[in-house]
Order: sequence, then structure tokens, then C-alpha cells
Amino acid sequence: MKAALHEAALTNPPKIIGKPALPSFGELAPNIVAHAIARLLGKDEMAHAIALPPAPQFDAQGQLVLGPMRMPTFCSGCPHNTSTKLPDGSRALAGIGCHTIAMLSDPRTMTVSHMGGEGMLWAGQAPFTDEKHVFANMGDGTYFHSGLLAIRAAIASKVNITYKLLVNGFVSMTGGQPVDGEITVPMLIQQLKAEGVRHIVVTTEDLDRVRALGLPSDVPVHHRRDLDRVQRELREMAGCTVLIHDQACATERRRLRKRGQWADPKVRTFIHPEICEGCGDCGSRSNCLSIEPFETPLGRKRRINQSSCNKDYSCIEGFCPSLVTVHGAEAKRPVTVGRARPALDESALPLPDTGLQRDSWGVLITGIGGTGVVTVGAVASMAAPGWPGLQYLGHHGSGSEVRER
Ligand code: SF4
Ligand code: SF4
Repeated sequence: MKAALHEAALTNPPKIIGKPALPSFGELAPNIVAHAIARLLGKDEMAHAIALPPAPQFDAQGQLVLGPMRMPTFCSGCPHNTSTKLPDGSRALAGIGCHTIAMLSDPRTMTVSHMGGEGMLWAGQAPFTDEKHVFANMGDGTYFHSGLLAIRAAIASKVNITYKLLVNGFVSMTGGQPVDGEITVPMLIQQLKAEGVRHIVVTTEDLDRVRALGLPSDVPVHHRRDLDRVQRELREMAGCTVLIHDQACATERRRLRKRGQWADPKVRTFIHPEICEGCGDCGSRSNCLSIEPFETPLGRKRRINQSSCNKDYSCIEGFCPSLVTVHGAEAKRPVTVGRARPALDESALPLPDTGLQRDSWGVLITGIGGTGVVTVGAVASMAAPGWPGLQYLGHHGSGSEVRER
């Protein structure tokens, strides 16, 4: 940007202000940018009125002291919870997508590349190492716009590689947009075969659904619980192979179920607290956030958060007798009883006492898509006209921000 501006105005280059005004680490939240602009414009009163996060702290070595952190992880019921698992003795290369999160939970998933370059680092490494094979993760959205070229290049370079291609049906990382074009599993297989992929295998949570697609007879279909064995077989094969994992995005499934556009099985999983021994196997097997610690007089056990559970049932694939499935069950919902609520005279409503002493504060509403973060942010912003100074600063990624000044 700096170079472009200077080239455009060589005789009178504009003043470029960057580092002194904005921090070079952390998040550039709207209030940080607004504060910097107000200061640059000499609007000190305005700058003073904008709430800022606490100033960063540095230790004696000058390193930034980080606050409490919650590492990102896959959503409950996310197909990546299964598909990014690796067999012992293998590693995987990462790309850009939700699956990049696998790098944070398993050091064997490493070295992220740009979209369309998945696995290409291995093409350079392979001639100089005794390592025989690697896996590389890729999503169907990436495959459609550029990932196929990486696979083509891997075939051309004759390296032993298995692409783990998740077909979840959405560009989930950026909010669940549709994939740029139509790309069904049968079409994928046809295209990959035409490119020269040696062997293609499909894994899924729903064998009946995938078998009904009428896939070619030389493309085996396995249940996801066989993933470890399937990957062990693939890593022994020469050349480029592809493992397609066909399972829809959990968050999009949740959204569509709420709208009545996706089958919502009336089956819920529970953990019987009197049988659970708290070993944690259900959590490590399913990698699921909805399996929570449950403190009891007999020690820590586990329970399933029924609000966040996305019903993918990978937790019941272990051998634990504590996991109970209840068929025909629906979660209890609060029932309103008594008289119908009278029509609301909004002008008569008193402003709530927030109890906040500061004259400036911010709210960060956390959550993931489908859990209401945008709705809460939007409702708060609708309240803004009646609440002077309340601003809705938009939402970004997995959270909404509302600020009052
Ligand atoms: S439910 Fe079963 S697998 Fe999970 S912690 Fe309890 S005993 Fe272990
Ligand atoms: S069914 Fe089990 S694994 Fe699936 S989302 Fe619910 S708690 Fe998690």
C-alpha cells in the first residue's frame, strides 16, 4: 500500500502512518482503529471517549505477557474431529481451512501452506528424506477453486501422498457460504480419477447415504470408525491417493435443522453419571467440546451438554457402557404459562440499571455460528436508539461486539 501510494504521487508523496499508531500484534479491533484515527485527527476528546483494552504487558525479557487464552478447537460434532486424526507413525501437512485447527491439537499436523499449495512442501522434501509418505488435509471449498491443482502437481511429482479431502458441503471457515460450484462426491471421484489419482477411498458417518450415491465399484466406502485402518493401508501405497471423508459441517447442519431443512434425528446421547468412571475416553475418541467435566462426590465424571451437542454420535463409537442413547427424545424447553403478555408500551420501559461504573465499556459476545451471537448483537444494536451512545460495531468471525460510550 505504501509503495503504491508513493509511486502514484512521487512529487508529493502522502504521509504514511502505521506502526506508531497501531499495535503490531493482537487484534485490530474497531475501537483500537477508531482510537488511533481520532488521535491522528487531533480529536483528543473523541479518542478519550473510546474504550480501549488494557495496555499490553511485557516481561523482563521484553516478551509480551499473554492473558488467559482459550485455544480454538473444532465445533461439537465437526467432521474434522474424526477426519484429521492420524495413525501412529504418520504426519500430515496442513492447509487453510477449519482443519488448520488440527495443528493446535496434534503436533504431527504441521506446516501450513496457502490454498492450492497443500502438500507441495512434501514434493520438495521427499527426495531428501527416508520418510516414505505424508498425509495432506484439504477441504472441498479449497479443492474447487485451487486445491485440485495441488493434487495435480503431487501426481506430477510422483511423491507418495494421501490427500484427506473433507466433503462437508460448505465453506465453513468463513461462515458457511456455499462452495463456489457444484461438486458432489461422484463428480470428485470422476475428476480425481481423470487426473491420475492411484486409489480413492471414501469414509463417512452414514454408509447408507453414501452407498446410495452409486459410486464406482473400485472406490471402497468405509465407516468413519475404520479410518485408522484405512489410513494405514493408504500410506503403504505408492503415488498419490485420496481419502474423501463425506460428512456435513456440524454447524451448518445445526442451522439447517433449526430451520427444518435438515433431518433432525430424535436421538440424544447421555452419559450415565453412576456408571461413568471419568476416564475421558469418550472425549479423546470424539474430540468433542460438548463432553464436559462433571464434578460429583465420587470425583470428576463427564456429561454431555445437550444445548451444544450437534448429534453426530461419534462419542458413542467407543466401548463405554456409560453412554446411553435415548430414542424419540426431545430437549425440554421452557413453557410460558398464565395470561398472554399484554402489548408492550416501549416508551414506558425504564432504562435498565447496568450497574457499570465506567462511562465507557464493551461487550464481547462469544459463541459460534448458529448459537445466537449475531442475534444477540443485532438485538442490542436495535436497542441503541433508546440507549444513547450504544453502538453495534459489527461482528467478526465467531463473536459480536457491542459498545456503549
Ligand atoms: S463416559 Fe465412559 S468414556 Fe467417558 S469419561 Fe465416563 S467412563 Fe470414560
Ligand atoms: S453426539 Fe456426542 S460427539 Fe456428537 S456432538 Fe453430541 S456429544 Fe459431541
